[in-house]
Amino acid sequence: MSTSYLWQRDGNQCRICDQSIDMMLTYPDMMRASVDHILPYSLGGTHHESNLQLAHLRCNLIKQKRIGFKIPNAHNPRPGLDGGFAT
Ligand SMILES: [Zn+2]
Repeated sequence: MSTSYLWQRDGNQCRICDQSIDMMLTYPDMMRASVDHILPYSLGGTHHESNLQLAHLRCNLIKQKRIGFKIPNAHNPRPGLDGGFAT
């Protein structure tokens, strides 16, 4: 399952933060597209497309193993998340 397939299916929108994804972004940009498991693979989720959604890599990493995790779509697109991995 590729990000381009999910992009065609779901549109260029991150399913975690509901903001658009620039499909031109590539490694190492953290805002590039990634494939997210709705039910995390480590919790028994499958690789079937019904369990996959498009998300920013950043959002995917913040979500980790949480189910149904959403980042509020506030005016500040990155509320307190920048550099948050170090704390
Ligand atoms: Zn996102």
